[in-house]
Amino acid sequence: METKQFKAESKKLLDMMIHSIYTHKEIFLRELISNASDAIDKLYFRSLTDDKVGLKKDDFAIWLYPDKDTKTLKIVDNGIGMTEEELENNLGTIANSGSLKFKTENKLEEDNQIIGQFGVGFYSAFMVAKKVTVISKAYGSDKAYKWESEGVDGYTVTEAEKASAGTEIILEMIDDTDDEKYSEFLDEYRIKSLVRKYSDYIRFPIKMEVTHSKPKEQSEEDKKANKPLEYEDYVEVETLNSTVPLWKKSKSELKEEDYKHFYTEKFMDYNEPIKYAHVKNEGMPSYDALLYIPSKAPYDYYSKEYEKGLQLYSNGVLIMDKCADLLPDYFSFVKGLVDSEDLSLNISREMLQHDRQLKAIAKSIEKTVSGELKKLLKNEREKYEEFWKAFGLQLKYGIYSDFGMHKEKLQDLIMFTSSKDKKLVTLDEYVTGMREEQKYIYYATGESVERIEQLPQTELVKDNGFEILYLTDNVDEFAVKSLRTYKDKEFKSVSADDLGLESKEDKEKIEAKEKESSDMLKALTEALKDKVSKVILSKKLKSHPVCLSSEGEISLEMEKVLNQMPTDQKVKAQRVLEINPDHEIYGKLKALSDNGDTEKLCKYAKLLYTQAELIEGMNIENPVEFSNLICELM
Ligand code: ADP
Repeated sequence: METKQFKAESKKLLDMMIHSIYTHKEIFLRELISNASDAIDKLYFRSLTDDKVGLKKDDFAIWLYPDKDTKTLKIVDNGIGMTEEELENNLGTIANSGSLKFKTENKLEEDNQIIGQFGVGFYSAFMVAKKVTVISKAYGSDKAYKWESEGVDGYTVTEAEKASAGTEIILEMIDDTDDEKYSEFLDEYRIKSLVRKYSDYIRFPIKMEVTHSKPKEQSEEDKKANKPLEYEDYVEVETLNSTVPLWKKSKSELKEEDYKHFYTEKFMDYNEPIKYAHVKNEGMPSYDALLYIPSKAPYDYYSKEYEKGLQLYSNGVLIMDKCADLLPDYFSFVKGLVDSEDLSLNISREMLQHDRQLKAIAKSIEKTVSGELKKLLKNEREKYEEFWKAFGLQLKYGIYSDFGMHKEKLQDLIMFTSSKDKKLVTLDEYVTGMREEQKYIYYATGESVERIEQLPQTELVKDNGFEILYLTDNVDEFAVKSLRTYKDKEFKSVSADDLGLESKEDKEKIEAKEKESSDMLKALTEALKDKVSKVILSKKLKSHPVCLSSEGEISLEMEKVLNQMPTDQKVKAQRVLEINPDHEIYGKLKALSDNGDTEKLCKYAKLLYTQAELIEGMNIENPVEFSNLICELM
């Protein structure tokens, strides 16, 4: 009997299998079951037009036979089988395995990742078996053949006996070591759980004889004597998989509970999802999907540990647990799965990223999620607000990220608290509620709604009867700046210099006053030159004496946020101190300036600046000086 050598690449892949890390080895079963299912698919298809096959749909099955005595696991199918030639060609070489091509360019570390994530085919049997025997009879052939191999040394093919078409794969398990217990793959319970984990939705039944024990019938005498029960074993054939996945069922067959139950079981979330969608896309790309929006953010959601992604199935076979490419970052909260017939089981992560089919699916899913969220917002406001509280931050990051590339898609989904009823409003609601004479979408920033309410800058806008959006999250102002406008209305901070509210008269009045007090403003600016870029007369203050605003791109709030980031470079907003010309203090300052009392004016300037800082909720730079100044002037 001639021992044949594996082709070079196949040898490499085999080697990689044998040295894979233990935790990945369990996928061998998924691979072999998937092959068996493919083989049955072929013969089943044949049987639809060829009576000679002699099998009906229900006759097709995959059988698993673990045997602890001989330490073997047998996987049997009544599929199309392989001819002698096919055994040679299919099992002696790995023709076009994507994983392998990837492997030759990478290190072992990455190999292990590939094995963990992707289909690696028949050779994965060598991850758990020291010897693999394949007995196969092709449909329509009267001869059967046996392929045997103990790994890298090669394989033999000889004639064999087999009654009907199909394939039997016998794995002689590797001996247990202290760390790696291959015998566990012979354990009924372990096999059941592996099938449920990876192959639950294979459409042909996966059967196994399972041993149960039951109490023996007792005689009346024994019963009376209260004798302990004796047990006996009996064998029952169980179907281990559920054959039709939930997502393959028709929507009319399913109830809300089915979807919700599936979610809590599968994604281990005690809370029911806020919304789910069952997608059956028959066009291009063709796929089925179950998508869920959770009601609460997982504890690690806003951390680096959180991994986004959907489960990816290729025709009922799980090929990846968290396929990140299926979800954009701003929808990273979505849980669920995608099943597509058009994806190859043997695709590597590297190739998956460039897969056009996958890209098309991702795009279609993004549309679905966005559509579902819009529906929720429109029809179930309360639920949407619950969603918003859990994941709104992520959507706002989405607007700001990638240089605002996604803002159009997200702008209708975001909300802010409004000054009106302290309730959440969408931008659309805000704009719809705008009065005719209102030019801008006004916003104010601060750490809390209460804090913002007290800001003197909000006075004038509110007095005009205009609504203000309260921006309380760090990312908010960045998001608003990325948006720039919404429905042609520009966003305007209430701290901005020109709020577009003054009448022409007011403007002229202020300008006249500014001219009149130009010496005073110059002196004040000089006194605060290391703190502010200028001191001006305010157009927005009503009752408060002073406030701080900024000019240029960076606001005071943004300065705070940016400086919290762990970089060495600190930014500084260009501060402007605004003085209320209608406040008593203005007269005082003016008098000091007119009398040439620069020294006192300088002290007043410092006091007022610090006051403004306090109102703004900032740390005052020099509390001792502030306190001394107050005492002195008192
Ligand atoms: P893949 O399934 O991706 O083609 P594998 O290495 O798993 O790669 O299998 C190689 C080939 O061997 C299959 O394409 C199939 O033609 C054949 N084969 C494997 N298992 C079986 C089986 N149980 N019955 C019939 N053919 C099989």
